[in-house]
Amino acid sequence: MSAYNDLMSFARETRALELIAGRLGWDAETMMAPGSSKVRAEEMAAMQGVLHARRTSSQMSELLGAVDVASLDAVGAAQLRHIQKSYDRAAKVPAELAAELARKTSLAHRIWADARANNDVAAFLPILKEVVALKRQEAQALAAGGDLYDAMIDDYEPGMKATELAAMFDALRPGLVALRQAALEAEQPAPLDFEFSEEGQLKLSNIVADAFGYDFNRGRIDKAVHPFSSGSGNDVRITTRTSPKDPFNCLYSTIHEVGHACYEQNIDQAYLLTPLGDGVSMGVHESQSRIYENQLGRSRAFTGWLFGQMRDVFGDFGVADEDTFYKLVNQVKRGFIRTEADEVQYNLHVLLRFDLERQLILGDLEVDDLEAVWNTRFEADFGYPVNKASNGVLQDVHWSEGLYGYFPTYSLGNVYAGCLYQALRGAVPGLDDQLAAGDASAATGWLRDNLQTHGGLYKPADVIEKACGFAPSEAPLLSYIEDKFKGVYGL
Ligand code: ZN
Repeated sequence: MSAYNDLMSFARETRALELIAGRLGWDAETMMAPGSSKVRAEEMAAMQGVLHARRTSSQMSELLGAVDVASLDAVGAAQLRHIQKSYDRAAKVPAELAAELARKTSLAHRIWADARANNDVAAFLPILKEVVALKRQEAQALAAGGDLYDAMIDDYEPGMKATELAAMFDALRPGLVALRQAALEAEQPAPLDFEFSEEGQLKLSNIVADAFGYDFNRGRIDKAVHPFSSGSGNDVRITTRTSPKDPFNCLYSTIHEVGHACYEQNIDQAYLLTPLGDGVSMGVHESQSRIYENQLGRSRAFTGWLFGQMRDVFGDFGVADEDTFYKLVNQVKRGFIRTEADEVQYNLHVLLRFDLERQLILGDLEVDDLEAVWNTRFEADFGYPVNKASNGVLQDVHWSEGLYGYFPTYSLGNVYAGCLYQALRGAVPGLDDQLAAGDASAATGWLRDNLQTHGGLYKPADVIEKACGFAPSEAPLLSYIEDKFKGVYGL
C-alpha cells in the first residue's frame, strides 16, 4: 500500500468518528432524555479527545511526509490539500492555548446565556475580553504575520479575505438601507390570525421537503428548539420547529435545512467518508440553504403552489388569495433579531456584526465600547433604536463561543445564492411554471449537477464561478432583492 492509501484509510476512520460525534450531538437535541445530559457531555468530550489525538498524531505527519505528490490525480491532490490543511491548523495552535480556549468559551457560553436572560451586558464583558484576547493569540499563531481576521475567516471560508468581503458588503449596504426604509413606510398586509395545528405544519413540512428533493431514505426530520442539519453522505438529518400562529417559521426553516441537507446528500458517492465528502465552506453551504428557502421557496410561483397546499391542510386560514399570501410570506417588518429577519434586513444584521467583530479582532474596537457602537450602527441602518441588550449586542451565541469570522459567511452565502439564481434562471427555461406546480426538480437538479456533486473538490469561490460562468459579486443579489421587494410593495 502506498502512503497515500494509508493516509486515506486513516482519514476515512477519522471521518467516521467525526460523524459518530455529530450523531451524539443530533441525539442530544432531539431524542435524549434531559437526565442524560451530564453523561452525554462526557461522551462527547471523550470523542473530541480521540479526534484531536488523531488529527495531530505523529502517524499523520509521517504519512503526509511520505506521499508521492507527483503521482496524484486532481481528486487525490484535492484530498491531500484538505488533509494537509487540517493537520497544519491543528499543529500551529499550541495545545495549551487550544485547551484554554475550549475552557473559556464553554464558561463564556454559560455566562452569556445568563447575561442575555437578564439583559446584563456588564456581566458578559469581562469573559468576552478574555475570549477575544485568546482568539487574537490563536489568530497570531495561524496568521504567521498575516491579517488576524483573515486567519479566522479561513476556518469557515478557505481563501476568502476580509477586504474582499468588505468591498462586497459596502456595495450592498446603501441599497438595502434605502429599500428597508421604503418597505417599512409602505402599506403592510393584515397579519395572520389563525391557529395552525402542529400536526398540519409537520405534514406540510414533509411535503415541502419532498418537493425540494430531500431523500427520506437517507435522512429524517425531527423537532428541535433550533432548526439544524446534521450529518453527511447517506445519513443527513434535519430538524424543524412549530409555532401555532406562525406556520412560515416551520415551513421555511424546513426548506432552509433541506437546502443544507440536499447539498450533503448530493455529493458524489465516490467521496463518501473522505475530506471531499462534505460541503466545501460555510458560505457555499449557506448559498444552498438560502437559494432553496428564498429565491425558490419564497418566489411568487412557488408560494402560489404552497398557498393551495396550506388550504388543503388547514382549510380557509383567513388569507384571500395567492397574491396576499405572497406578500405575507415576504413581509418586511420592524424587528431586532437576525434569525427572524426578512430578505431585505437580514444582510444588514450580518454586515453590522462583520464590521464590529473585525474591528474587535484587529484591536480597533474595545470590548467596553461594543454595545454603544452596536446601538449607534443599528439605529443608522434599521431606523429605530435597540430597546434592550437581548435584542442587541447579546442576541447571538457566536462571540461567546469564539466563532469570529463565521458571521460574514451568512451574507456571502446570500451573495453566492444571488449569483447562482441568475445562472439557474438562464439554464432552466420555464422555471416559474414548474415551481408554480410544486416541481423544484429541474432547479435542484441543476444545483446538484453544477455545484453540490463536487463536494470539496474545488475551492469555494471557484465552484461558484464554475457553476455560474462568471466571477461572484454582490450585484445579482442586490438587483434580485430590489426587483422583488419593489414588486411586493409596489414601490
Ligand atoms: Zn443555514
